Amino acid sequence: MKGKNILKHLSSDLLNPAFSHIYIEKAILDHPITTRILSRFPISRQVEIAHYKDVFCRSRQNYSLQKKSPSLILAEKKEHWLYEGAAVCQDFGYRHFYYASLAMNCIYDCEYCYLQGMHPSAHIVVFVNLKDFFSAVERELKKHPVYLCISYDTDLLAMEAFLGYVKEWLSFAGRHPELVLEIRTKSANPKILNTLNPQENVILAWTLSPDSIREKFEHHTPSLEQRLHCIQIVLEKGFPVRICFDPLLYTKNWAFLFQELVETTFRMIPSHRIKDASVGVFRITQAYLKRLRKQRPNSAVVQYPFINDSGVCHYGHELTERMISFAFEQLRKYLPEDKLFIWKG
Ligand code: SF4
Repeated sequence: MKGKNILKHLSSDLLNPAFSHIYIEKAILDHPITTRILSRFPISRQVEIAHYKDVFCRSRQNYSLQKKSPSLILAEKKEHWLYEGAAVCQDFGYRHFYYASLAMNCIYDCEYCYLQGMHPSAHIVVFVNLKDFFSAVERELKKHPVYLCISYDTDLLAMEAFLGYVKEWLSFAGRHPELVLEIRTKSANPKILNTLNPQENVILAWTLSPDSIREKFEHHTPSLEQRLHCIQIVLEKGFPVRICFDPLLYTKNWAFLFQELVETTFRMIPSHRIKDASVGVFRITQAYLKRLRKQRPNSAVVQYPFINDSGVCHYGHELTERMISFAFEQLRKYLPEDKLFIWKG
């Protein structure tokens, strides 16, 4: 499948198709990964640039418009290959928790996505120097085991058809048993999943949401049923699977929706086959929320009057506690306590 096929939902008839333009840093024009990615987009216009920030960090960009017709930027990451896990993220009990930013931005368009508050542009940046990321992980592994999330600031599996990064990380993880990888996604592409070989230290993690939430707030993402079908496929293949009910959004009928979501999930997925599950209510740093609200002035989900708790905005302790307790109660019907990871702030 050519890359443009998975991107067709992004562009309207009045705009250029997604990735109609691909910006490439001069230094990596001949990089083998650059060549591989470009081969997936034979009719895109290629533009040579000095540095990805020349395009990505320009002032006065229109994020919403770019989101409808994003360009691709191929770049080289020069530093910060690994970041320590942020306080708003779950560590799943791992002591040495890191994440890597192999790409910035995502082909989906979730209204609540913190990336809109984090980046000045909706264009998608992909760093092609994978080997430098691998070397950085190997340096850490010399000191201690590593738990690494590689699909936080993007959705790598959703872009696997033209990136092939998940396959490369699977093979890297196979050579480093003391590394545990988490690859989080909302994607649903059985064809791609069937090409991947499982590794016991690579957790595929699906974020699950009720369909009514997906339709309202998670634009262009696959349905719940499609995501669950993909979980069935990878469980059959032997992958460890995590399910993430995160972010849990506060809406009028959140409790009913959540209960229905959990019931549907475990009707399709045998609970004993799941490695673990996480739950967390929506939370976001104050700075990201400020920018996010500007991008989405009409979005009920981001305009909620959150409580600002030392720079982290959330629903407030009373409501958070109520939502988390209910979610915990529902999940406990299917999963033992030691498989449940709850973000309480
Ligand atoms: S799938 Fe995740 S990374 Fe992509 S837009 Fe939605 S929240 Fe953001």
